[in-house]
Amino acid sequence: MATSAERGYYELLGVERSASDAEIKKAFRKLARELHPDVSEAADAHERFKAVAEAYEVLSDAERRQLYDRYGHAGLRRGGYAPSDYAFTNLNDIFSVFFGDDLFARSRGGRARGGDVGAAVAIELADAFHGVTRAVEVEVAVTCERCDGDGAEPGTERVTCATCGGQGQLREVSRSVFGEFVRTQACPVCRGAGETVETPCTACDGAGRTVETKELELEIPAGIHDGQRIRIRGAGHAGASGGPPGDAYVEVHVTRDRRFERDGDDILSSVDLTIVQAARGATVAVPTLDGDVELEFEPGTQPGEVRVLRGKGMPSLERSGRGDQRVLVNVAVPRQLTDEQRELLERFEQLSGADTYRRDEGFFEKLRNAIR
Ligand SMILES: [Zn+2]
Ligand SMILES: [Zn+2]
Repeated sequence: MATSAERGYYELLGVERSASDAEIKKAFRKLARELHPDVSEAADAHERFKAVAEAYEVLSDAERRQLYDRYGHAGLRRGGYAPSDYAFTNLNDIFSVFFGDDLFARSRGGRARGGDVGAAVAIELADAFHGVTRAVEVEVAVTCERCDGDGAEPGTERVTCATCGGQGQLREVSRSVFGEFVRTQACPVCRGAGETVETPCTACDGAGRTVETKELELEIPAGIHDGQRIRIRGAGHAGASGGPPGDAYVEVHVTRDRRFERDGDDILSSVDLTIVQAARGATVAVPTLDGDVELEFEPGTQPGEVRVLRGKGMPSLERSGRGDQRVLVNVAVPRQLTDEQRELLERFEQLSGADTYRRDEGFFEKLRNAIR
């Protein structure tokens, strides 16, 4: 297996050399979730994780990235860069190291709402028609049971943060010819809580939360459209220091059904009639999302005619009621004929005249009505 020294950082993260900071962050976030030894069962997961962490460490830093772009790995070493040796105990650590407050949307005072989580689920068109309940797995930070979210080992106390003196924020004052600038930022040591833990909880390492895979019961309403997101309130990451949890957003993908094409709340389908069925008239079973319906076709049914089945489309999410199903008539022309069949058709042609194919006067009227 190639080490990161042999493989390029951009290649490791699977991004273009022109990738933006946001793209690099997104790519690493995804890989970190896949490759973290807590999650991945692959034997080389640890090595691969370290390699992508190193790539991210370099490419997420403007100065290092510039060095690397110009002079490659050798340039970084000359620049004094050595990759960190990460020994993470859990996913919590990674996300707090690399993404700061990404997993826990912290704010001043420490009591903060938890972050939102995203997931996706794929359902069939028939499920979207009836509505369905699906189990969806999400990886969320939950309040640590051992310390009840406090972060301190049970029996020990939290202490006032020495860095910020319990304020939870730091003021940075800079002077220039234009005057004095004051910048306030959350204290990096206590992350705004104003307190630190002297003896971290052994279960969560002082984070107050642990990452767990939770199964959510997702109720997908009838009529859902492909790509719509459903919010489950309170199913996201646990909040910090007793703050409320975030939400879960699940994107629903509706897979294509070969028999039906969806157009908003309407369903389009087609039916094949043989030339004989079309000429003589026939009753044919046509599939709908409700099951087959028998449709009667009059003698002289033409290809391109559209039959509208009112209320046989998708249930509407926005309004009450259902859309329509429009059935397009296709007339199948024989592709292979036996000698006998050919003779019969030739005989038929001899017996045919202008009247055989004459349009009845209401034809366009009917077509217009069908299409609406
Ligand atoms: Zn704990
Ligand atoms: Zn502090």
